[in-house]
Amino acid sequence: MQEPKPIELALPRVRESLRSEVVWGSRVVAVGGGAPVVVQSMTNTDTEQAVETALQVKELALAGSEMVRITVNTPEAAKAVPYIREQLDRMGIDVPLIGDFHFNGHRLLTEFPDCAQALSKYRINPGNVGKGDKHDRQFGQMIEAAVRWNKAIRIGVNWGSLDQELLASMMDENSRRAVPWDAKPVMYEALIASAIGSAKLAESMGMPARQIALSCKVSGVRDLIAVYRELGRRCNYPLHLGLTEAGMGTKGTVASSTALGVLLQEGIGDTIRVSLTPAPGESRTQEVVIASEILQSLGLRTFVPSVTACPGCGRTTSTTFQELTQQIDDFLRAQMPVWRVRYPGVEHLKVAVMGCIVNGPGESKHADIGISLPGTGEAPAAPVFIDGEKRMTLRGENIATDFQKVVEDYIAQRFTAAPSAAISA
Ligand code: SF4
Repeated sequence: MQEPKPIELALPRVRESLRSEVVWGSRVVAVGGGAPVVVQSMTNTDTEQAVETALQVKELALAGSEMVRITVNTPEAAKAVPYIREQLDRMGIDVPLIGDFHFNGHRLLTEFPDCAQALSKYRINPGNVGKGDKHDRQFGQMIEAAVRWNKAIRIGVNWGSLDQELLASMMDENSRRAVPWDAKPVMYEALIASAIGSAKLAESMGMPARQIALSCKVSGVRDLIAVYRELGRRCNYPLHLGLTEAGMGTKGTVASSTALGVLLQEGIGDTIRVSLTPAPGESRTQEVVIASEILQSLGLRTFVPSVTACPGCGRTTSTTFQELTQQIDDFLRAQMPVWRVRYPGVEHLKVAVMGCIVNGPGESKHADIGISLPGTGEAPAAPVFIDGEKRMTLRGENIATDFQKVVEDYIAQRFTAAPSAAISA
């Protein structure tokens, strides 16, 4: 009889790419070339308001954003950029800043050299750097600034602002085919041609290939998958991945996670951004949390301790179980800016919060530390498992606070404190 083979692990594929480096001071963020996938985000403050923008950048960086993009749309915004950088440096936040340029980037980067130097990377949208003979000249001015100040760039194509001349010429070409293609594949080709063509043009102007990242953002999940699969096949530039205009809340989260999950599993994507529209009053950091969770759930990165929780069912009729899960999750996240420095490796911790005896003890034993709460009709006692062994039983009103303390003690004991931790929360 033939020996059964073990089931293959679902490991993500690997796409070979160049390695781009985005630098500020001694902070080097590697993108591509086998580096871990980088989380980035973008502010939604008015860049002219330097203090407000610096504070939001800080908030995003502390939430885990490893690069932060800010819009640079006016001379006043360009003037504010060096002040934003200065404020961040004073606060000890060395996250690299990316300038987002459209329409007038060639002028801003030329006329405001302090802005050009304070940024670590420029995002250039080839669809709106000018039309006709102005296009190459203005594009060239931005490349000149990147070369001069030794900055990385992203050629960021977006189908909402695709180069209309290029699209029109590709549509014409298509109409001359014996059997013309549908409009969608022509659009896909135009997006990819705009990105790769602009990267080649930048190289011909002196930009090192290894400092160029590409993106081709669209808002449909299947469109994004189709475009990036092909883009990934046709070039070896590192790829910035994101679903543009993903939307709000659940819709935006699910659409981004679905699209990015499929592509990342195929090895496509070296840095990601989740373009979520925040609900009024909602923190901008939510997009960073989601991007980090996508990478963590695929096993590509580990940012925060994971909390395994059952969904609850008819056996969990009180709200204690939901409250404890929420409380532990919030507590672990809130501590991370400090713990990340104080307890190296703490992000690998696995906590389980389970609703009853059915799967509670089993799942808790698989975690580093787990609690199995009493379901409806069970004795009001919650066994706690540490490293697979039942160590204690919590009872009474304060189970949540007591469990939080048990988790804290476990972390302090297991993860050796770094000697002189420079903590900037
Ligand atoms: S562990 Fe218990 S409470 Fe949780 S889903 Fe399973 S049966 Fe329901």
